[in-house]
Amino acid sequence: MATTKQRGKRRRVTQAQKDRSAANRTAAREVLHAYAVLCLSDPAELEQFRSIAASLGWKYDPASDDPGYSLQNVALLAAQRRPLTWCGGFDYWLSVGRCVVAGETSLGTWRHIGGKKTDEERAKEKELAEEGWQSTGRRPRYYVKRGTFDVAQTRPAAACPHCGTTPTGEDDRTTQCPPTCAVFALRPGSKPPRDLVIEVMQAQLLDGDEAEGGD
Ligand SMILES: [Zn+2]
Repeated sequence: MATTKQRGKRRRVTQAQKDRSAANRTAAREVLHAYAVLCLSDPAELEQFRSIAASLGWKYDPASDDPGYSLQNVALLAAQRRPLTWCGGFDYWLSVGRCVVAGETSLGTWRHIGGKKTDEERAKEKELAEEGWQSTGRRPRYYVKRGTFDVAQTRPAAACPHCGTTPTGEDDRTTQCPPTCAVFALRPGSKPPRDLVIEVMQAQLLDGDEAEGGD
């Protein structure tokens, strides 16, 4: 009985959902490809990306559970919207006393499909690669999850601790901090090394070409 119940709970993925997911991935790769080209051809854009990564909080290992965004995700977010200074999901914004402005479109981030590799599995793969073994060529599978908003897409839910702007009441859905409010400023943080950023951007170009060649 318990087994039947569990099976019943599992959501079936329809072809339409699969198509939509593939379309989201393709759209994300395209916008990322264009942004990577921009960053690699314009040093000012590359610098802006490093500042965005520092402000959002970036992490070196995309697979780690540490807070922060992988550089691939910072790139995807920045490709969708700039300037970008502080990002979070709907509930995150509520937890810091702000809420998403009605009508704002959320940004997508890459999410890995399936379980994460253990340190042991990763070490074994590295060992095999060093011994000259070719990988199976099966790349990790990702999907695009929407639901991330920049601080500029939010408004104070209560008195803003930075500028004091306060909604007039529960029904007030429009009162916004002035553009000069410190909440919208880039946040301090360590910038990713330039070489690493260039590597990540170049990888986006390869991914794009591979996708065009039939993924
Ligand atoms: Zn404010």
